[in-house]
Amino acid sequence: MDIPVVSILQATEKTTRYSFQETIVFDDEKLLDPVVGEFEITRASNQILQVKGLFKARLQLACDRCGEPFELPVEFDVDEGLEVIDGPVTSEEVNETVSATGNFDATDLIRQNLLLALPTRRLCGCEPLTNQADADSVDPRWAALRSIHQEPNGKH
Ligand SMILES: [Zn+2]
Repeated sequence: MDIPVVSILQATEKTTRYSFQETIVFDDEKLLDPVVGEFEITRASNQILQVKGLFKARLQLACDRCGEPFELPVEFDVDEGLEVIDGPVTSEEVNETVSATGNFDATDLIRQNLLLALPTRRLCGCEPLTNQADADSVDPRWAALRSIHQEPNGKH
């Protein structure tokens, strides 16, 4: 969603509201529904725009423990100040600045905030002991219990 910065700067109202509904493409995460939400852009001054909004998404992630895909509903907010500059935006400052003659890429800002809202450990709710990778570090008491369970097979 590209919003011409000039339309924000020249709007009669200080604050403009927007509805957002868009399918965002991610590198590793799979989006199950379009991201939906509402946001508003407030002209704090001719140089500063404040973007505030609340969004919802549903993602399919791969579990860090068992590797199985699972669904994760996410609610996240955006609260970001944008500096309006006259010249073109350089790649180093692209996150916090917009050009007065260019567009504000709301989708990109929302994508970044969604990624920040994701948990650092993505777990589907599976039990640690079911994962083969954790088997080596298993508690000795559980190991003893396991060997009992596995005995019938082991004897053959
Ligand atoms: Zn899992």
